[in-house]
Amino acid sequence: MIKKTLLLAADSKRLERTISRNRLTKPLVARYVAGTTLDEAVAATRELNAKGIDVSLDLLGETVSDLSESAAATAAYVDTIHALATQSPGSTVSVKLSQLGIGLDPIVCEGHLKQLLDVGAEAGITVEVDMEHSSVGPQTLEAYRSLLPGHPNTRVAIQAAMRRTPDDLASFTDIKPRIRLVKGAFLETIDKAIVDPAEVTAEYHYLSEWALKNLPDPAFGTHDDTCIDIVKAAAERLGIDKRDFEFQMLYGVRRELQEQLAADGYRVRIYVPFGSQWYPYLMRRMAERPANLMLFLRSVISD
Ligand SMILES: Cc1cc2nc3c(=O)[nH]c(=O)nc-3n(C[C@H](O)[C@H](O)[C@H](O)COP(=O)(O)OP(=O)(O)OC[C@H]3O[C@@H](n4cnc5c(N)ncnc54)[C@H](O)[C@@H]3O)c2cc1C
Repeated sequence: MIKKTLLLAADSKRLERTISRNRLTKPLVARYVAGTTLDEAVAATRELNAKGIDVSLDLLGETVSDLSESAAATAAYVDTIHALATQSPGSTVSVKLSQLGIGLDPIVCEGHLKQLLDVGAEAGITVEVDMEHSSVGPQTLEAYRSLLPGHPNTRVAIQAAMRRTPDDLASFTDIKPRIRLVKGAFLETIDKAIVDPAEVTAEYHYLSEWALKNLPDPAFGTHDDTCIDIVKAAAERLGIDKRDFEFQMLYGVRRELQEQLAADGYRVRIYVPFGSQWYPYLMRRMAERPANLMLFLRSVISD
């Protein structure tokens, strides 16, 4: 119930305006967001790199209402790619196609994505495509699919909770995709998604083994000990080296575990968001861990 309310609140522009202006939310935002500027994001990236941990930078912002905003976001991503190429060449960038305009004009959006893939290829920086709500999910996968032949290193997030996922994965017959397997962070209806947490974990179990067997260099985006142990055990059983797949986690979530996995010889990449449009991202993080909610509410109410 709380989770559903928070995910609904994530889409409210009115709440976004009120909460984004509230300076008391600052400490909570700082836990999950590396800063508002590219310089701050690069500084956070270098700190993680010094611990043997890779990064994927995410410029916050989604669901633009005007194509000029998507062009501006694309330009900001070009700057981000260039900064990473010189300061952290092992990093990637993560992009949301709603920010590149998929909801307004899929052709323009695909052009923006192609530009980022081209710039990334030249700079040696891989692009990862986030997977969003099912209202744009299928279009996101199609844009990814159509650019894959020219850019086979591109990674796409795949949500274990979505009922269409096994068919989506099976539909890649020519070029096998590099995926980031996640549980799924959006509010979906039961006809489209599995909603029971235990069932989502069971599906994650099945899909992670399938990905290790069938896909190149899979990434597992999770902080769940059960899912992590499943991946580790399956890799060991299948004789897959620790460096041939990676664990991905979110900035500010289970930091000790991130460092422990890296110390144990696993590849670890942290998804590091930066920018001023943190509201929907933060609300999804609250929904994943309602224990954070009291902290959040106290800060908003006492303002
Ligand atoms: C690198 C990365 C990229 C992602 N990209 C996408 C994407 O493109 N599309 C998409 O739909 N989803 C994405 N997600 C989110 C994902 O779908 C889940 O919502 C999220 O990872 C929580 O699921 P979990 O596997 O960590 O398991 P959970 O069972 O939710 O969490 C396991 C444990 O991790 C800790 N934890 C989890 N979340 C938080 C939090 N917010 N704050 C504090 N502690 C927490 C808690 O200790 C919890 O018990 C991404 C996640 C990661 C890690």
